[in-house]
Amino acid sequence: MRRDLFIDRIRSDDRLWDVIIIGGGATGLGAAVDAASRGYRTVLLEQSDFASGTSSRSTKLIHGGVRYLRQGNLSLVREALRERSRLFRNAPHLVHNLKFILPAYSRWETAFYGMGLKAYDLLAGRQTLGKSHLVSRVFNDKTFCS
Ligand SMILES: Cc1cc2nc3c(=O)[nH]c(=O)nc-3n(C[C@H](O)[C@H](O)[C@H](O)COP(=O)(O)OP(=O)(O)OC[C@H]3O[C@@H](n4cnc5c(N)ncnc54)[C@H](O)[C@@H]3O)c2cc1C
Repeated sequence: MRRDLFIDRIRSDDRLWDVIIIGGGATGLGAAVDAASRGYRTVLLEQSDFASGTSSRSTKLIHGGVRYLRQGNLSLVREALRERSRLFRNAPHLVHNLKFILPAYSRWETAFYGMGLKAYDLLAGRQTLGKSHLVSRVFNDKTFCS
C-alpha cells in the first residue's frame, strides 16, 4: 500500500466526503465498512498502520458481555449479547463458538461463578450459544462431553 499516493489522491480530490473517520482500529474500520456498504463516500484516516493500536492487542474474543455481569451492568450485557448474535448472523465465516473453562478453587467460587453463569444463561435467552454447566475437577474426555 502506497500511503503517499493515497494521501495525494485525497488532497487532490475536491469532492465532498459523506463520512470521515479518524482512526483505523476495530471501531474505525467497522464504521468505514458500514458507511461504505451503505453507499456513503467514506475516507478513513489512520496515523500509523491499520489496527496497530489497541486492536492489535485484542484476543479477538466476542465474549457476549459476560465480564460486565460482575459489574452489574445488565444493559451492557444485553447489548453485547445482541452484538454477538448479530456478528454470528452477519459473519459466520469469521465468528465461531468457543467453549471455555473457568476454574473455581473453593466451594464459594463454585457457587459464585455457577450462579453468575446461570444468570448469564437466563439473560442470553434465545441468544445463548449453549448452557453453562459444572465439570468435575477430574478432567478427561468423558467429563468434557457431559
Ligand atoms: C489485552 C487486550 C485484550 C483485549 N481483548 C478483547 C477481546 O477479546 N474482545 C474484545 O471485544 N475486545 C478486546 N479488547 C478491547 C479491544 O481491543 C478494543 O476495545 C478495541 O480494539 C478498540 O478499538 P478502537 O478502534 O476503538 O481503538 P484502537 O484499536 O486503539 O484504534 C485507534 C486508532 O486510531 C489511530 N489514531 C489515533 N489518533 C489518531 C489521529 N489523530 N489521526 C489518525 N489516526 C489516529 C491510532 O493509530 C489507532 O490505530 C482487548 C483489549 C486489550 C488491551
